[in-house]
Amino acid sequence: MTDTVRVRFAPSPTGFLHIGGARTALFNWLYARHHSGTFILRIEDTDRSRSTDEYIDAIIGGMKWLGLDWDEGPFRQTDRFDVYRDYVKKLVDEGKAYYCYCSSEELEARRQEALNQGKTPKYDGRCRKLREPVPGRTPAVRFRMPQEGYTVVDDMIKGKVEFENVQLDDLIILRSDGTPTYNLTVVVDDVDMKITHVIRGDDHLNNTPKQIQLYQAFGYPLPRFAHLPMILGADKTRLSKRHGATSVMAYYEMGYLPDALINYLVRLGWSYGDQEVFTREELVRYFSFENVGKAAAVFNPEKLLWLNQQYIMASAPERLAELVVPFLLRENVIAEGQPVDMDWLARAIKTLQERAKTLADLARSLRYYLVEDVGYDAKAKDKFLNEKSLPLLKDLKADLEALSGFTHQELERVFRAIVEKHGVKLGALAQPVRVAVTGGTESPGIFEVLDVMGKEKTMKRIGKAIAAIGENPPGKE
Ligand code: GLU
Repeated sequence: MTDTVRVRFAPSPTGFLHIGGARTALFNWLYARHHSGTFILRIEDTDRSRSTDEYIDAIIGGMKWLGLDWDEGPFRQTDRFDVYRDYVKKLVDEGKAYYCYCSSEELEARRQEALNQGKTPKYDGRCRKLREPVPGRTPAVRFRMPQEGYTVVDDMIKGKVEFENVQLDDLIILRSDGTPTYNLTVVVDDVDMKITHVIRGDDHLNNTPKQIQLYQAFGYPLPRFAHLPMILGADKTRLSKRHGATSVMAYYEMGYLPDALINYLVRLGWSYGDQEVFTREELVRYFSFENVGKAAAVFNPEKLLWLNQQYIMASAPERLAELVVPFLLRENVIAEGQPVDMDWLARAIKTLQERAKTLADLARSLRYYLVEDVGYDAKAKDKFLNEKSLPLLKDLKADLEALSGFTHQELERVFRAIVEKHGVKLGALAQPVRVAVTGGTESPGIFEVLDVMGKEKTMKRIGKAIAAIGENPPGKE
């Protein structure tokens, strides 16, 4: 075994990249990066009836979105059948595997019989000692498992887990149709790709003793194992769609930042004191299996949302501007092909990023900055666009028109002068302006908003509000 760490993420493309798979990929990636090792992506697509190219693309897309870059691959097991057959032949030649001529009907009948007698079904080994082929039958190949003693999985998370060899079946490694089986392909690939650490979900722990026997049969030093505890939903059952979105790309669609999801995923099992928010560099620096817990982790969508908000708050507005564009399109805030001044968009985002939980939220809150015209919230309009605010708005319009600049400072000076003149509080002007400009009563500070909105749009909207009051004076409704 080489000294450098070589790990792999080995998804079966029978579904999208989900939360559990992404966490496995992340722990492999972090381990590789921490040790300046190699991270390999291997697509385990031998189950041809359930694997699709669409899922392969989706898994790769998910990995890329999360920024989990790999150094070798993606390898596809279906491209490697010759390699598997060579390895099987070697085992047969060395007497470590044997041909089995039992038909599937015979095996099924024996299985039923064992079940009827209350026994655990297991291959009875009748082809173990065959010397001659059985005419008219195409054999499968079975691995000769030891029948005595124990196989110990020395796991970096779980410690030593012992399995009785008598429980291990002489498993089929090559079917009679010439296709290799799961446990064989995993081990051959790990041997062939010189994997040093196998990091995967603990749903694979029961396969590990069988695989250990195979590694040993190939004369390959055992990799270290780390079986990650399961991820559960809030009700402590295995995480599934019932608990909310489980596909990684669903989080992209909802407007999560990849770094927020990474930060959330790493905490599903790993901890570092009580620190909650980590940069990627910190994760790479701090990651080790010593800090991976044995207990199952519980998926908490609220915490993920909270983290996402922290990341949006801390992001550079210029980066958020790039990320938010697809969401602006989706929320119909801008039209396809509509040019957007990205520097200006970043300034608008800066006023809103404190409040947005997702990019979709952010896109929706940017609406009044970007659309041509705003509609008014009915209650807000009644309350603030009326005879009382009319003279204030009229004065404001005149004074703003006369302004040469349109900065926060100048705006504030004009507002203050008007409220002083009318003997009212700042809110008596600020709220009607807010409704005029944004359509509602909630927004960042009014001067910030107007500063970003610019003179032209602001004047137009105040003009429109004045006209709306004129058309619809109170008492005439
Ligand atoms: N292909 C297996 C899965 O998707 C993983 C096998 C492994 O990591 O050893 O569950």
